[in-house]
Order: sequence, then C-alpha cells, then structure tokens
Amino acid sequence: MFIDNHGRPINYLRLAVTDRCNLRCFYCMPEEGIDWLSRSELLTYEEMLRICSILVKAGIEKIRITGGEPFVRKDIMQFLDSLSKLKGLNQITITTNGVLTAPLVPELKRLGIRSINLSLDTLDRNRFFSITHRDELPRVMDTLEQLLANGLDIKINAVVMQGKNLEDIIPLVELTRQLPLSVRFIEEMPFNGGASHYAALEWDHVRILQAIRENFPDIQKIPDPLFSTSYNYHIPGHQGNIGIIAAYTRSFCGTCNRIRITPQGALKTCLYDDGVMNIKDLMREGLDDDQLFNALLDAIGKRAKDGYEAEQKRIRQKPAHESMATIGG
Ligand code: SAM
Ligand code: SF4
Repeated sequence: MFIDNHGRPINYLRLAVTDRCNLRCFYCMPEEGIDWLSRSELLTYEEMLRICSILVKAGIEKIRITGGEPFVRKDIMQFLDSLSKLKGLNQITITTNGVLTAPLVPELKRLGIRSINLSLDTLDRNRFFSITHRDELPRVMDTLEQLLANGLDIKINAVVMQGKNLEDIIPLVELTRQLPLSVRFIEEMPFNGGASHYAALEWDHVRILQAIRENFPDIQKIPDPLFSTSYNYHIPGHQGNIGIIAAYTRSFCGTCNRIRITPQGALKTCLYDDGVMNIKDLMREGLDDDQLFNALLDAIGKRAKDGYEAEQKRIRQKPAHESMATIGG
C-alpha cells in the first residue's frame, strides 16, 4: 500500500474524466466556460484504465469518477464497465450534477456502483438558474428520484454561498427527515476559474452548523467515519444525516488518504497543489508500468503536509483559483 511521507495511507483516487460541463455553476467556472482541453490533451480511456490498474495493484481501493460532468464524456458507460472489472477495486463512486444521470441509474447499479454524490445547492428553480446558469432543476430532481428508487447511497453536496442559497439550508436539511440520504454542506473554495472575485470565506463550517442548530436545536454529533472529510450530525427522528465539509478551512488534512488525477493527466497529491507530475506525458514517453509505479511512489513520498503547504509550493498560479472542473472536485 502507498504510505505518504507523513504516514498517511493512500487508498483513494479521484479521477476527473473531463473538464467539460453542461452547467456553469458560478463558484466553479465562468458563464462562458473555460478553455476546454482538446482531445489530445485529455487522458484516453485506455490510459485511465492503465493508470487505475497500476494504482489498484498498489493499494488504491476506491475510485471516485468526477469532472467536469462525467456523463458529458462520450462512452463513459463503457469506461465504467471496464473499470468495474478491475480486480482489487472495492468501490467506484461518482460525483455528478444529475442533469443526464437519471436514465443511467439502473445501469450504474448493475455495474456495482452503490454510492453517488449528487450536487444540489438549491431546491428552488429560480435560484438553481441563478447559480448554474441553466434551467435544469427538474432533470436533477428526476435523478434524485431514480437514485432513491434504486436504493443507492446518496450524498447531496451543497455549497453554501452568501446571497445565493442561504434560504436553502433548512429545506435541504428537511430532506433528511423522510429520506435516507446524507446532505453535506460545503464551504465555498476559491476554485472558480476566475469567474468571480473570491474575497473571503463568509460561511465556514462553524457558521453553517450554527444556522442549522438555530432551527434544529437537538442536532447531535455522530462519529465521523475513518478518513471522512465531513463533520457528521444527526437530527433525532430523521432518516438521513447531515455533513459539513470544511473544504476551505482545511481541517481534514491530517487524515487525507486521497490523490487526484486531472483530465489532462496531472497527478495532484493535494487539492491545493498545482500538479506534482503529469502521468499522461510519462505514459506517452513510453514508461513501463514499473517505471510509472516508481514515479507515483516518489510523488507520494514528497506530499505536502496540508493544503496550506501545498498552496505555498505551487509553481504556476498563487493563490489557487483554477476551475474545480479542471481539478476534479
Ligand atoms: N460536475 C459534477 C458535479 O457538479 O457534481 C462533478 C464535478 S464538481 C467540480 C464536484 C463538486 O465540486 C461539486 O459538488 C461542486 O459543488 C464542488 N465545487 C465546485 N466548485 C467548488 C467551489 N468553488 N467550492 C466548493 N465546492 C465546489
Ligand atoms: Fe459543472 Fe460540477 Fe462545476 Fe457545476 S460544479 S460547473 S456541475 S463541474
């Protein structure tokens, strides 16, 4: 198994399969989009499978497919089918905006995918449009219905934003009353592709909890699973749970077990670094599997202690504000 230079086991990969998206969430990218990668800049599915297979042999047990929006990439279902056959890989999960996902849910279930993160910042159609610049809330809600009907584990991701969706905090918490899902509120990070000026974090995890507690005074802390990025809570009598993710205040770095691969093949050993090496380039230079494994081992052996150190060490752009879609959220 990979162990980093701070003694943290690495067993989780987040693989961003595309930078493209059918929404334009203002906290992630500008309304006009970003400079999309050309086809040759993207990792091919064959390259992704090769690197996943090397990583799984080295102890990666869980792979999250993300993007951009994973379901806008052509032939993604065939890729998931191949990935699901990798021996030693215990869990595949997906983060999706839900726009194209509803009809695919039964097939995802058939492939053995048990857990989906659905991004949903608001339950109001107008606010959805104002946040994402697209009128797609009905299709996202269809996806939620399908996920529930097929019995998948559902985590709803909601970024909390001053002036955008504070009215939604309580209705989103209310979803957990009748539904067996987890609603996770996320601190907004500066990864918006330069879309808007990110002055300061207004809603940190403490303030988010306070707002929930004002309406649900009996909310209780529950144990956080190992390697969890969220502080987890339960409201007595509710079916589901609440999570709060301190994505910007970075309180979870001490147990971070994850690495990321971006759509263009950069390896990120921290969300806040700007890529510590490019695996696609190494593969296209002809490195064999052992050489790739050693390059990965070397990078993991030089991991930043936390997101602050990783941001300090960035070579290209400081502070970090590329789009989350090019990082793999
Ligand atoms: N398109 C898919 C989706 O939206 O679920 C997957 C990729 S998206 C980049 C992954 C997650 O990153 C989403 O839950 C999104 O809300 C979150 N995200 C994007 N930009 C963010 C930001 N600036 N701060 C906090 N979370 C962000
Ligand atoms: Fe697209 Fe996801 Fe970014 Fe929204 S958060 S623009 S859905 S990649």
